[in-house]
Amino acid sequence: MSNSQLTPGVVPGRLPAEAIAKNFGDHEPPLDAHEARVAADRCYFCHDAPCMTACPTSIDIPLFIRQIATGTPEAAARTILSQNILGGMCARVCPTETLCEEVCVREVAEGKPVEIGRLQRFATDTLMAKGVHPFARGAATGRKIAVVGAGPAGLAAAHRLAMKGHYVVVYDARPKAGGLNEYGIAQYKSTNDFAQAEVEWLLQIGGITVKTGVALGKGVTLAELQKDYDAVFLGMGLAGVNALRAPGEDLAGVRPAVDFIAVLRQAKDKSVLPIGRDVVVIGGGMTAVDAAVQSKLLGAQNVTIVYRRGQEKMSASGYEQEHATSAGVRIITNASPVAVHQAGAAMEVEFAYTVDGPEGMKPTGETFRLRADQVFKAIGQTLSGAPEGLALSGGKIAVTGAGRTSVPGVWAGGDCAAGGEDLTVTAVAEGRDAAEDIHAALMAGQ
Ligand SMILES: Cc1cc2nc3c(=O)[nH]c(=O)nc-3n(C[C@H](O)[C@H](O)[C@H](O)COP(=O)(O)OP(=O)(O)OC[C@H]3O[C@@H](n4cnc5c(N)ncnc54)[C@H](O)[C@@H]3O)c2cc1C
Ligand code: SF4
Repeated sequence: MSNSQLTPGVVPGRLPAEAIAKNFGDHEPPLDAHEARVAADRCYFCHDAPCMTACPTSIDIPLFIRQIATGTPEAAARTILSQNILGGMCARVCPTETLCEEVCVREVAEGKPVEIGRLQRFATDTLMAKGVHPFARGAATGRKIAVVGAGPAGLAAAHRLAMKGHYVVVYDARPKAGGLNEYGIAQYKSTNDFAQAEVEWLLQIGGITVKTGVALGKGVTLAELQKDYDAVFLGMGLAGVNALRAPGEDLAGVRPAVDFIAVLRQAKDKSVLPIGRDVVVIGGGMTAVDAAVQSKLLGAQNVTIVYRRGQEKMSASGYEQEHATSAGVRIITNASPVAVHQAGAAMEVEFAYTVDGPEGMKPTGETFRLRADQVFKAIGQTLSGAPEGLALSGGKIAVTGAGRTSVPGVWAGGDCAAGGEDLTVTAVAEGRDAAEDIHAALMAGQ
């Protein structure tokens, strides 16, 4: 190894290749059968279970845990997947600490929840390892539906529509299906190419054709889709990124965190990826944490997240913040970027300290600079490439009910649609519910 954590600049191989490969292994190792039975035995199988209410896809959690406890993990998987067809990915990426596990009665009483996420993974992995797809396509209806975006929202919609017997064509601008499951989620949450394995498993239902490399607005237009299909579902996510709006933003070392993560996710061998000795990540959400932690795992010596408001306002959960700090990432709060300056071969990011009071956020007048070889912007994604003519709300596609847009025959869900949190599980719920509504509308002859 010729480089180390101390090597100046942006270089690959700051850690031995084996160390980097280990760093990007499973963040939370899967439970084995015995561990799963022990974990399942902690569940009280609550009546009116709060965990189930907290799940955006309303999985019957006590039922699937009981099925694991009684030694039928395949039945447990079916319970999960009937509500959430991406239950395998959600088991890996859901912030359970702010959803089902936060409200679990054992968390409330003892500060230690039933490990719902890990149990869900045990069940879905057991079924998928057998190559079993537990759902059949419904009798063909002769109806055709176009889905734009092969992310969690689009895939969930496509699968539910196929279950109803419709024929579905999914268009995606990227070379691979999966959306942010493939290009965004942190590598250590989704190892062994799980996103692609899950897409292939999902498509086993039949009746779904995926066309990658076709972008709405370039390869195909909404008007063409409306003409050729009985309904259209838009699940195109948020393809744009917010700008820092600070001088120096266009310097070569400054880039969107999502681009860095997408390259990282696609690299088979992470040890060839160049990373700076000093990395500064600007933002306070999941993307900021993932970019910072993965920079550290590649061997960056100093990684700092800088967030403009107080720590309690960071959208990354307490668990994620702790994950970042335990990986060696420093978090600075109440500091807003002012400018990025070239400083020899590196950069210096200038920040202004802020106070966040009843009149809003204000600079204190004091500034400081952080040295950076790389600066990752993680200050939010924006809707990009949405077709004209659709009403928007808060910068996203406005929807009513189960994803109906302002244009008849066009539905939307997931990150691109207004309302709901930007989470994988929420996108799945919205795609599924829109599919049910599309089916009901088509069958009613609307
Ligand atoms: C870095 C990062 C980490 C995250 N980590 C987590 C996590 O750990 N847990 C969690 O729950 N959530 C996480 N999220 C959020 C989660 O990934 C999203 O909420 C979820 O993927 C949204 O699903 P979607 O289907 O709406 O959009 P996406 O997953 O973004 O999929 C949209 C798809 O549409 C395609 N597309 C876009 N424009 C067009 C067009 N014009 N024509 C055709 N196709 C188009 C895209 O290529 C993409 O495949 C993370 C997000 C990011 C950015
Ligand atoms: S709240 Fe906890 S104990 Fe009760 S059913 Fe859900 S997982 Fe089991």
